[in-house]
Amino acid sequence: MAVQEIPKIHADLNATFRTGKTKPMAWRRAQLKALKKLHLENEQALCQALKADLGKSDFEGWGAEILVTCNEIDHTLQHMNEWARPERIPTPVAVQPASSEIRRDPLGTVLIIAPWNYPLQLCLAPLVPALAAGNCAVLKPSELAPATSKIIAKLVPKYLDPDAIAVVEGGVPTSTELLEHKWDHILFTGGGNVGRIVMAAAAKHLTPVTLELGGKSPCIVGKKTKIGQAARRIIWGKVYNAGQTCIAPDYILVHSSRKDELMAAFERALKRFHGDDAQKSADYGRIINERHFDRLVGLLGDHKVLFGGTHDRDDKFIAPTILDAPDLDSPVMTEEIFGPLLPVHTYETMDEAIKFVNDRDKPLALYLFSTDAKERERVLNETSSGGVCVNQTILHYIVNDGPFGGVGPSGMGAYHGKWGFETFSHRKTVMTRTTLVDPDILYPPYSETKKKWTRRLA
Ligand code: NAD
Repeated sequence: MAVQEIPKIHADLNATFRTGKTKPMAWRRAQLKALKKLHLENEQALCQALKADLGKSDFEGWGAEILVTCNEIDHTLQHMNEWARPERIPTPVAVQPASSEIRRDPLGTVLIIAPWNYPLQLCLAPLVPALAAGNCAVLKPSELAPATSKIIAKLVPKYLDPDAIAVVEGGVPTSTELLEHKWDHILFTGGGNVGRIVMAAAAKHLTPVTLELGGKSPCIVGKKTKIGQAARRIIWGKVYNAGQTCIAPDYILVHSSRKDELMAAFERALKRFHGDDAQKSADYGRIINERHFDRLVGLLGDHKVLFGGTHDRDDKFIAPTILDAPDLDSPVMTEEIFGPLLPVHTYETMDEAIKFVNDRDKPLALYLFSTDAKERERVLNETSSGGVCVNQTILHYIVNDGPFGGVGPSGMGAYHGKWGFETFSHRKTVMTRTTLVDPDILYPPYSETKKKWTRRLA
């Protein structure tokens, strides 16, 4: 689809929205069922596209990109009638007799811009609440995952209502042209720098934005921890999708007394998951492109490697790599890693670990491995992050009933489940007053008696 077609797509979708076609619950539910069918009937082709783009194993492609969205659809279909139902709320005595409620309106035509790391799920999962809430939508998949972008562009018009949902493929010029237009909401997933561009463009039209960004998600390993289990859960979350996960644990802060055990357990876990040579493992992914490969090798620099450290540019392979206490001002400790490198630092007291986290940007995720309930409560109370996962990594993402989103530089707004429905709805308060009586109290001429009564009722 050419950039020149964008104005017409924008106008056509707005026209569809104004017909009211997308408002009935029956239309919304039919679209969600069709979206699920798209996934189920094309599972193999979708997994092949993900493999072509990211070397993703079928298990990870199916699990993180197909299953997650299908679960989101099921959860939404189960609850959306209740989410959409007008909500009765109390009316102040002063304006009685009257009744009040909150109604949820669709916003209109929304734009969803997706990244390349989970190129299918992060494009189609936000569409679930957008459709459930009754909107039209334009999807802009990532050009850096071309096979997935292509299959999304092929399948979406085949399964979903083309009057209301469009896919626009392309890179920066396409995004730039899309952002020229007035949307009713933009949900952007990607890096903070592009997030700023999106927000600035949205500001011209006063378009609200949800920014799902990234950053450095810390992982604190406490003194009291089941080290073997913690190592497996951390390293699994780190090397899933070759570390190219927005909520991957970025670096470790381990109590100094447990560091050696943790390192040995990381090595055991990696060998168990991917054998002696991860390059030969069918389950280990590849770096998206040469640019990101070079960036990661640059981050690796000449830091002390405790495990891994090998790479192969022709294969876009970087081994799972543990780094021993790289300088705090080196890029691997200041930039989001977004790859299979895991720096490890130690701390002596929890005060120190909490300070380390709080001295930096508020992260998208925070991980804590500890069997000490008091310590867990402390960390939860004294830090701020998009979400927290205790004694596990990345799986809090699939808690349908909780909001997923960042805070501060890791993002704004949220989606998943009801929170996505709210993101793509406008909540309007509706007060309906009786016509049976019309008390004189609010009307001029005002008097001390009216004031006295108003004060009493307010
Ligand atoms: P990116 O910001 O480079 O690109 C995201 C999207 O923006 C793509 O569709 C791209 O075409 C578009 N884009 C790129 N440059 C643009 C420009 N100048 N103007 C307008 N649009 C532009 O991000 P990425 O490299 O695809 O993804 C990696 C980042 O995304 C990481 O920071 C990661 O943490 C973050 N991320 C966040 C989440 C989340 O849910 N919070 C999920 C995945 C990735």
